[in-house]
This record gives sequence, structure tokens and C-alpha cells, in this order.
Amino acid sequence: MESTSSFLSALETMGDYDPDSMPVEQARQLIQQFLAPLAEHELINLQDALHRTLAADILSPMNVPPHDYSAMDGYAVRYDDLANAPSRLTLIGSAFAGRAFIGRVAAGECVRIMTGALIPEDCDSVVMQEHVQVAGSSIEIGEGHTRGQNIRLVGEDITQGATVLTSGRIIRPAEMGLLASLGFSEIKVYRKLKVALFSTGDELQQPGKPLAPGQIYNSNRYSLLGMLGELGVEIIDMGTIRDDKASLKLALLDAAERADVIITSGGVSVGEADYIKQLLAEIGEVVFWKIAMKPGKPLAYGKIGTCHFFGLPGNPVAVMVTFQQFVRDALRALMGQQPKLTIELQATCLSPIRKVPGRTEFQRGILSRDESGGWIVHTSGAQCSGILSSMSKANCYIVLPVSQGRLEAGSTVQVQPF
Ligand code: AMP
Ligand code: MG
Repeated sequence: MESTSSFLSALETMGDYDPDSMPVEQARQLIQQFLAPLAEHELINLQDALHRTLAADILSPMNVPPHDYSAMDGYAVRYDDLANAPSRLTLIGSAFAGRAFIGRVAAGECVRIMTGALIPEDCDSVVMQEHVQVAGSSIEIGEGHTRGQNIRLVGEDITQGATVLTSGRIIRPAEMGLLASLGFSEIKVYRKLKVALFSTGDELQQPGKPLAPGQIYNSNRYSLLGMLGELGVEIIDMGTIRDDKASLKLALLDAAERADVIITSGGVSVGEADYIKQLLAEIGEVVFWKIAMKPGKPLAYGKIGTCHFFGLPGNPVAVMVTFQQFVRDALRALMGQQPKLTIELQATCLSPIRKVPGRTEFQRGILSRDESGGWIVHTSGAQCSGILSSMSKANCYIVLPVSQGRLEAGSTVQVQPF
């Protein structure tokens, strides 16, 4: 990647670069240009691996299953013995999971076997217990069997040396189990991304304290802590910073020293006390600071030294939308993660929607199915960007493209489920 400043000057020569009103998709692509995965990796215990990102391909050190095992409770037999049904075989022992049958099985003999037990070396098939008549120490088997039946073959699931997981995979519960099944107790992952977080606003009070006139509770700190928590980053929580240029500058410089990414909320509009964009230009570089979207128009992205900076709007809904639409994928890329599939579907919108062309809109919606199984969606109440209850009720975004104008009830819309 070239330096931020040379990249920006190249951008400015492009006709459609407008840092004051960046289209959503262009903003996403622009941010991508600045993202490279963290260079530092670490070895961690498998039990601590949930939500971490693999920093190396995983090759299987073994076959899975490592031997041939029984897939059923029944009898391990030599298939050739079943040629003339009904066949009568002598029971000479038993095999359990973790307790193999030791010895040879001669023609005309069989071994009682449980699911997960090793197949005795002379046997090649397992007959389910339901298909067998037991008479003392011998059994009788009818016809209709095939050679090799009911056996999980060595290497059937994974062969030794095969690539099981690639670098960039997020460790979920399934991957934890998979890695354990291959005998890994430690894995190499990207180090945790350090994200510094602070809210700006003289009106903000922390929950648990009484509100003075004109104060509101700082909700952005908590929704951001929640969204960051889901990503498994290391959070540097710097609380609330006053709308004071000197304090904000100190906070930004301090955060840039300690973190890979800075996320702030508030102070990016053009009000009297909105210093964030000014400061970013002063101590770092502004890539853009307004997006052609609603909610979330004031969204600043830039760099302070090597640190990425996201200045989110103050409005609580706008904070969540901009985080989910821009910041989350950026953090994932920095964490070394492979891009996640965004699931979008089309639904019939039961609510009429007021919109004017010019910006992409993310309305909060409630998605469900009608009697015939089709997707239907309606808006989740008032859509002002300060109203968090509509966010809490919602289970999806209704995404309305830039050119879209007013929408009648019954129109087809694009929906992003949460
Ligand atoms: P600003 O972008 O700072 O002008 O803030 C826009 C609106 O969001 C104002 O009404 C603020 O009071 C509100 N706001 C800003 N920060 C927060 C926060 N951390 N929690 C809740 N509301 C906020
Ligand atoms: Mg403010």
C-alpha cells in the first residue's frame, strides 16, 4: 500500500471523489484500500480460541478417522462368510469404543462390536444387531448385505496432509471441535486488534447517575461496547471526552499511541463544538467525512499516523448503522479475517416509505414470512436517527438505494437481516 498522502492526492485527481458526500459503496471500497491485516501473530491455547482468527493454514497431521471403525452396534464379520445365507457364525469376543478386540477372527467367526470400536483386523463388514438372530454363542445372518457396510473408513472424513482450515478463518465452536479432533492444543492466531473508544459531548452523563437538566445518558458507549464485544477485539475504553478542542486533541493523540483503531461518537457534524474533523485534519489525514446515506451522513474516516480513525455520528441509531455498514468489515479485515458474506434478500414491504432520492437509506425493519412462505417486511416504527427503540425492535435493515424515491406499500425492497 502506498502512503496515505500520496493515495489521497491521487484520489483528488479522480473526477468522482467527493469527500463531502461519498456514496456508500465508494466509501467502502476506499476504506478497503487502507486496510492490511495485522502483522503480529501469537500462539494461544485452543480453549481460548473462540472468535480469534487463524494466522496459518491448518494441515491435518493425521487421517480422520485414524483407523476403520464401526458405524453401528452389531457384529463384525468376514463378508465372504455371508455368501450362502442364512449363515451361522460363532461369536468369539467383543469390541467396544476404546477397547479393541485383540486376536484373529477365523472363517466362520464373528465379533460383537459397538459403534466407534476398531474393526478387528480380519473383518471387513459390520452387520447391524437388528439384522441378526442370536442363539447362545452363535448368530444367524440372512441375506442382503454388502462388503464394507457400516464401517467408517480410515481417512474418510479428512486425509493426512489435507488443508483443513485456511488462514483468516474465524474460530467458531465447530472449528474448536475440529481442531481438537486433530489433536491441536495450540494454534497460531492474529494478535487481538486494539480499538480505542470514546464518546464526545458535554451533555453526556453515565448511566447510574442522576440526569441534570439538558443532560442525556451516554448510550453510544454501550452499543459500541456491545458491537465491539461481538468481534472479540481488545477494547481501550476511554469513556467520555468533553467538547473541548484541547481535551479532544489529547485524547486522540493518546488513543493513536495505544490502539490500532480509534472509534469516536459525536462531534463530527458542523456545529459549533464539532471539532473532530478539524482535529483529524490537523493531526492526521481525512479520507472522507460525509457519506451520502441516512442515517449516518457525518462519518469521518482517516488516519492518525498508522492508526485508523472512524469518527461516527452522535445520533444513537446512526452510530449503529455506520458501525455495521463500514466499521465492522474494516475491523475484520484488519484482524486478518476472510470477508464475510452479507446476506441480502428481497421482501415485500408492507409499509409505505417516505424517501427522497439522493442518499442510500437504511431503515430499521421487522422481517417475517407470510402464510405462503414469502418474505414480508415492515418498518419498525419511527425512523429518526435518535430513536434506539426502533433499532431494538428491528431484525433487519431495509436498504433503499440512492435513486429510490417514495415507496408505496407492497413494493419489493432489499433487506439485510441482522
Ligand atoms: P453530535 O454529532 O455530537 O452533534 O450529536 C448528535 C446527537 O446525538 C445529539 O443530539 C447528541 O446529544 C446525541 N449524542 C451524541 N453522543 C451521544 C451518546 N454518546 N449517547 C447518546 N446520544 C448521543
Ligand atoms: Mg456533540
